[in-house]
Amino acid sequence: SELSEQKNGIIVSRFGQHADVEASNGDIFRCNIRRTVKSIVCGDSVVWRQGKETEHSISGVIEAVHERTTELARPDVYDGLKPIAANIDQIFIVSSVVPAFNPDIIDRYLVAIELTGIKPVIVLNKIDLLSAEHQELIDIHIALYQEIGYEVIFASSKLQEGIENITARLNDKTSIFVGQSGVGKSTLVNSLMPELGIGTKEVSENSGLGQHTTTVARLYHFPTGGRLIDSPGIREFGLWHLSPEEVDQGFIEFQDYFGYCKFRDCKHQNDPGCALQQAVSDGKINPLRFASYQRILASLGDNKLTSRFN
Ligand code: GDP
Ligand code: ZN
Repeated sequence: SELSEQKNGIIVSRFGQHADVEASNGDIFRCNIRRTVKSIVCGDSVVWRQGKETEHSISGVIEAVHERTTELARPDVYDGLKPIAANIDQIFIVSSVVPAFNPDIIDRYLVAIELTGIKPVIVLNKIDLLSAEHQELIDIHIALYQEIGYEVIFASSKLQEGIENITARLNDKTSIFVGQSGVGKSTLVNSLMPELGIGTKEVSENSGLGQHTTTVARLYHFPTGGRLIDSPGIREFGLWHLSPEEVDQGFIEFQDYFGYCKFRDCKHQNDPGCALQQAVSDGKINPLRFASYQRILASLGDNKLTSRFN
């Protein structure tokens, strides 16, 4: 009798047995989570009921979660794959001229993103630092990504270039930004969402509910429309462990050739009758992407390399 009717809401953030739910009018309610609700993460679309405010300002209860359109999960020592965010529409892979443009890292992100079904968009940031010596290498790789069908945006927070282009893609969507440290993600997100102040606020973000929340994902609204899900952990999405099978799946333009090699256990290296090697010779698969594929596969067994990614 204390509870009102069921409402829909979106999870802004989750803290242990509690979560902040954003109602359709934008107000935020801290809610308990019914034990019957299996998993709640940032971005989830939920059914909840408002109630009387109780201890810790708990003022509602989450009763059900709608099916997720997409899910980001990270490997967990205890849980296998642990979901960390839901219903993300697009992922901006931020790369930059400085630190050096690294197509292997972009490919690594692309693999992880392809496995989620979320749309990747490549952002080449800090183009104000682009020099003639970078230009050639970058042109070749960018053309290659575009040929595969990936969108590439050239950006510079410094020159405010590409910002309008990114802004135009945010509307009505839930986005995340991933990329290596130093590529300019914080600066970019701050110019898209000035009031957020990423980098200064995130460390003190604590619910007061006895949980360290520095890695907890949080949902924000861009002033121009659209949503952002962000946390230090979210920004590292894509650099965690991948299996060789996942790497195979993530190179989307290779899919027509897997399964057509002469030998079932083909390693796609110098194996006779390799359909992928043949596709490279025929100009169907770009040799640079093929080399990147080989390097990523080789790095999976190399602790020195994978430790950066795990
Ligand atoms: P993050 O680690 O990816 O969040 O990167 P930051 O946003 O902290 O930026 C790393 C460094 O790159 C900082 O010193 C920024 O001032 C600088 N930076 C960011 N965007 C640009 C840009 O568009 N051009 C130039 N020249 N420097 C930038
Ligand atoms: Zn093969």
